[in-house]
Amino acid sequence: MNATIDIATISSASQSLPQIDKLIKQQLAPQTIAIDRQGVYPAGFMSALGGAGGYQHHLPSQQPNGSNFSSAIDVMQAVSRECMSTGFCVWCQDALGWYLEHADDASVRNRWLPRVSSGQQLGGTGLSNAMKHFASIEPIKIKVKRVHGGYIANGTLPWVSNLKDDHVFAAIFQCDERQQNIMAVVDCQQSGFKLRQCAKFTALEGSGTYACHFNDSFIPDDNVISNDVSMLIPRIRAGFVLLQMGMGLGVVQGCIDIMRQMHETHHHVNRFIDEQPDALEEALKDARKATFLLGREVSGNASDALFIDVLQLRHFGSELALRASQAAMLHAGARGYLAEAPAQRKLRESYFVAIVTPAMKHIRKELERLQAA
Ligand SMILES: Cc1cc2nc3c(=O)[nH]c(=O)nc-3n(C[C@H](O)[C@H](O)[C@H](O)COP(=O)(O)OP(=O)(O)OC[C@H]3O[C@@H](n4cnc5c(N)ncnc54)[C@H](O)[C@@H]3O)c2cc1C
Repeated sequence: MNATIDIATISSASQSLPQIDKLIKQQLAPQTIAIDRQGVYPAGFMSALGGAGGYQHHLPSQQPNGSNFSSAIDVMQAVSRECMSTGFCVWCQDALGWYLEHADDASVRNRWLPRVSSGQQLGGTGLSNAMKHFASIEPIKIKVKRVHGGYIANGTLPWVSNLKDDHVFAAIFQCDERQQNIMAVVDCQQSGFKLRQCAKFTALEGSGTYACHFNDSFIPDDNVISNDVSMLIPRIRAGFVLLQMGMGLGVVQGCIDIMRQMHETHHHVNRFIDEQPDALEEALKDARKATFLLGREVSGNASDALFIDVLQLRHFGSELALRASQAAMLHAGARGYLAEAPAQRKLRESYFVAIVTPAMKHIRKELERLQAA
């Protein structure tokens, strides 16, 4: 890792995103409260972000002039600063593209990736179950049987986000006959498959999150991303976990914004709060720098050493998000308690950074295993 890189190089990546900032102001910000309070899924914004190139930066095959992992995180960060529920949808879309980029077979990549990376096809990722399985937290919930031309799937994934009837997502399935786990694209319109509305959430209600039911649902070979995920996971894990930093960094920045706004009227009393925005700004700068540096290493690096660094940073990002959102609440005071106040929304969103797979507890378990090895 090149530790001498300076912060100016890092922020130059975000300077290429003015069009995205404009889109966030014009198309996302007016909906943020409805997304949070009424569970509106911002389909139009998600498509428009794809049209503006928001889902391509990290994908070498879609960036002939060179991919830039950090720019993908910058986009997610900018969206999450405004609305982290939508920032999570951006992560879902980016992660799906990342898996397709690393597909065993170019044909599945060529079929789906141009549409996924341009936002013409929206979709998500149902990998939490498998990642928890690999960390010995829970069993794989969907099983497949081999049939002519593909697989028949049965089981249920409780939560998959960034979905609608015409969306797709990637999931991992257990194939007992082959004693291998496969990854495939699931089309929400395929036969034997149903999306079921989950219970109401306390945050991320507008993230298009559904339970996914497979009842003898056919998955054609054409949609198989990998026939043996034990080879694929080491190549994709650091990238998709590092991408999640976009959510955490954005929430922290949003909380600092709130604290600075409150400063104008409440500095005389807020200065007695332990956590101040300057200290958080410093920690955010460090986290951004580490994210940028690791982003330069993820492509083609399947090492445990890199994954350990990414997990440690991701854990730090969760802690920082929790710390910043609590501080934002304290700085906002009673105003932060209003139902539409950004401070309490950020507080609820920040907990998601800490519980989405890999949750903080999962990261600690995984670090214990990797470090022992
Ligand atoms: C709003 C929202 C959106 C989400 N979107 C996605 C998504 O897009 N894709 C995705 O893959 N995931 C998604 N998730 C899931 C998420 O990533 C995490 O996996 C989940 O939040 C982690 O839950 P947990 O830490 O509570 O795990 P736990 O539920 O604590 O996992 C532990 C495991 O232990 C099992 N268990 C519980 N009690 C017992 C017991 N007594 N004995 C034995 N076993 C037990 C549980 O069944 C579970 O399997 C979403 C979750 C939410 C809330």
